[in-house]
Amino acid sequence: MNFNYNYAPTPAPWCGYTNSVSLPNIPHCWHHSYNPACFCGGWECCPEQYSQYYSHYSAPYPNTDAMKRRSENSNNVEEPAKKTFWAAGLLAAMEDPQCIVKQDDKIVIIQDKYPKAEFHYLVLPREDISSINKLNREHLPLLEHMEAVGQEIAKEHPNHKFQFGYHALASMIRLHLHVISDDFNSLSLKTKKHWNSFTTSFFISSQDLIEIIKRDGKAKEISRSHAKELMDTPLKCHKCKMMLSNMPKLKQHLLVHRLKEKHATEK
Ligand code: AMP
Ligand code: ZN
Repeated sequence: MNFNYNYAPTPAPWCGYTNSVSLPNIPHCWHHSYNPACFCGGWECCPEQYSQYYSHYSAPYPNTDAMKRRSENSNNVEEPAKKTFWAAGLLAAMEDPQCIVKQDDKIVIIQDKYPKAEFHYLVLPREDISSINKLNREHLPLLEHMEAVGQEIAKEHPNHKFQFGYHALASMIRLHLHVISDDFNSLSLKTKKHWNSFTTSFFISSQDLIEIIKRDGKAKEISRSHAKELMDTPLKCHKCKMMLSNMPKLKQHLLVHRLKEKHATEK
């Protein structure tokens, strides 16, 4: 790919980092061939990442490291942009011994950097599979293995129940199985979108995904409008189905379940 770095930063029209000028067909995002001339660091000018991001989270956070490095060294923008593109964070984490919990020849298990529960792991295949949409029947043994290693790590926390599954529209590159304890007791669980991404059908259980791929040979595509509907679902406790009017109330309510369960296991 040849890019003209003499361009003024040229974001996609929806990128907030400069007043955008509509420019030629410059590709976006390094995974989907992003536009490295854009100061947003790549993630905002990629249509796919942008929309997936917004289906999950309420506010953008720019890749400030990439932005800073670019402004410090405008002659050498290509290499750092690729490394720091935020949606590729899991790729970096799975190579970082400090993040790795377990690994074998097929998978790497890392700690989720922003855990949404007391225990939250991600199981990633070494094979370069970007998302559930790239899966086919040949991947079934891998999916079974990912779940099996997830189950194994969950067993290390016998006082917790776990959920195993995938987000229908993931925000990060590289397929990843969430292995998450069902207490959802974590400071990083902040928004309705966080909550609904684990407690509505946006969260596809590992077993369901395996069954769907066995049956259809591929995962079900979810439309952006349906994803948004799921993210906007009113807050409901996943344990007792009580409706809560806001996140602080929900989190308080979750603590009651947590304490009851703790009490029961300590008896
Ligand atoms: P998803 O919405 O399924 O793509 O979820 C991505 C998960 O990756 C979220 O639970 C994030 O908290 C987590 N995450 C984001 N960046 C990192 C990182 N650099 N290292 C580990 N986990 C991360
Ligand atoms: Zn409840």
